Amino acid sequence: MSLARQMFLRGSTSPWLARQMGNRRFVQRAVNRFMPGEQLEDAVGAAATLQEAGMSSILTLLGENVADREAAEDVASHYQGAVEAIGGAGLAADLSLKPTHLGLDLGLDVAEAALRSVVTRAGAAGRLVVVDMEGSEYVDDTLELYRRIRSDHENVGICLQSYLYRTEDDLESLIPLRPMIRLVKGAYRESADIAWPKKIDVNGAFMMRAVRLLEATKADPGVRVGFGTHDGGLIGDIRRAAYDLGLERDAFEIQMLYGIRRDLQSWLVAEGCAVRILISYGPHWFPWYMRRLAERPANVWFMMRSVLGR
Ligand SMILES: Cc1cc2nc3c(=O)[nH]c(=O)nc-3n(C[C@H](O)[C@H](O)[C@H](O)COP(=O)(O)OP(=O)(O)OC[C@H]3O[C@@H](n4cnc5c(N)ncnc54)[C@H](O)[C@@H]3O)c2cc1C
Repeated sequence: MSLARQMFLRGSTSPWLARQMGNRRFVQRAVNRFMPGEQLEDAVGAAATLQEAGMSSILTLLGENVADREAAEDVASHYQGAVEAIGGAGLAADLSLKPTHLGLDLGLDVAEAALRSVVTRAGAAGRLVVVDMEGSEYVDDTLELYRRIRSDHENVGICLQSYLYRTEDDLESLIPLRPMIRLVKGAYRESADIAWPKKIDVNGAFMMRAVRLLEATKADPGVRVGFGTHDGGLIGDIRRAAYDLGLERDAFEIQMLYGIRRDLQSWLVAEGCAVRILISYGPHWFPWYMRRLAERPANVWFMMRSVLGR
């Protein structure tokens, strides 16, 4: 892992840095590149614009590690309101949320109750809710949370990270559940004991898991797949593998983050691929923004430009 990536990922967990940076205007201006605004209406507006350009979306309220049950319940009711808002705007949009934002630190039962309330409301409106994957200390509980909700709801998905060695086994154990899986590389700071430290290995593992998922959806279209990546090389390999398996271009989704690789997003739509964009919003953006800088330290230049343009 590069020094810059380590530095940003360490910074993402620092409350002191969050306080120092969080209310600086130039940082907020730089953050706007990756999120349309802090309010749900901002996200709904961005989703409507994307829909006109042929893309569906996923809305996620930024935040993690809530400290009490009331906060978890507030987050759950926010998401229930989001279901109504996307329905009211006629959007092809789903939801994505972090288990610790729904109270996983307070216990599985707390997070389960909160998630169940969101998934039930979303199910009634025909929306999918995808459970994000956070740092490795949460993987076991997150999978258990997913399994509990999946046992009586179809409209719930789960994210898996290719950088973890364990993901191959986790994927095999999930496939019989006919899941919706979003495969990503992984955004947290993990040790070489449990995660591939080199990008080339993370990419290799991503492609192996991707082929397994394409085979699974070919065998059973009840297995739904989204590839969360902006990596043009990997996307090309995935499309070729899907073609070799005889899958239609829209048998899987390519999912990207709002504001990243817009050129590739539009090109994929023109190619007939199903493209879904994850739109983040909300006031608690600091740790999430640090993870975006870690993915591409060159993004710091956008922040510096905002400083100079202040
Ligand atoms: C829809 C979606 C959901 C996600 N959910 C999760 C999750 O639940 N848990 C989790 O751990 N991670 C999640 N991630 C983040 C993911 O793990 C990666 O950290 C992130 O996608 C960057 O990896 P990459 O596959 O794009 O490849 P990279 O090799 O990092 O990047 C490939 C290319 O994409 C562009 N790019 C990538 N990141 C940036 C950036 N920040 N700014 C500008 N350009 C960039 C650059 O051109 C880069 O060369 C999610 C990502 C997406 C797209």
